[in-house]
Amino acid sequence: MICDNLEHIRAAVRETALRCGRKPDSIKIVAVSKHVSAARLTEAQTCGQTVFGENYLQEAAGKISQLSSSLEWHCIGHLQSNKVATAAELFQVIQTVDRLKIAAALNTHAERLDKQLDVLVQVNVGREPQKSGVLPEEAESLLRSMQSLASLRVRGLMTMPPLGCEPKESRPWFRALKQLSVQIVEKGLFHDNSAVELSMGLSGDFVVAIEEGATMIRIGTAIFGERTQQ
Ligand SMILES: *Cc1c(COP(=O)(O)O)cnc(C)c1O
Repeated sequence: MICDNLEHIRAAVRETALRCGRKPDSIKIVAVSKHVSAARLTEAQTCGQTVFGENYLQEAAGKISQLSSSLEWHCIGHLQSNKVATAAELFQVIQTVDRLKIAAALNTHAERLDKQLDVLVQVNVGREPQKSGVLPEEAESLLRSMQSLASLRVRGLMTMPPLGCEPKESRPWFRALKQLSVQIVEKGLFHDNSAVELSMGLSGDFVVAIEEGATMIRIGTAIFGERTQQ
């Protein structure tokens, strides 16, 4: 079932990319594996999935130690200061940097680990009070302050926009993230301003996200089925 699901998603990614004049392999599928067992991740791996996104550190640590070391792990959950050391160790990519304190702590730990850590800045495009992420107008200044953090490579932006009923309701939020990234590119504040990552789009709206420029889509339910826990 997992393999069939992955095949369907890959086909939709390919079709959407080609329709938009984009290269299909410029879009990375991050399999969101919160509350999914290591055995089922192995199944996904058997079908060629190599990139996984985890929300909870303890859960992630268990799976990362059980599974093959060739996989790429992304942190997509909210980060607290007291968890930053573990996160810097476990993950190749941290998608949820939204304040300088966390960025500086990640940098310190990455430096200790002699590691270059790829990070994305999470933006709260919908300005939802309950959600993590820097406000759009504060993103540039956060990126500016992060320039001196030599062990972090800021690859791009990530967002988790307000949940709509229909996929097309996400379009303005995805567009806003893209526009913000263009402004930041003009200031030259990303690690590589010619290859900026935009992590946006979930199971329900990844086609729209790709149309609006997503380079990473974070897919849980459409690969692993409905979660019994949130
Ligand atoms: C759970 C989660 C997803 C995946 O959502 P689905 O609708 O199951 O695809 C993506 N991003 C984040 C940050 C999540 O917490």
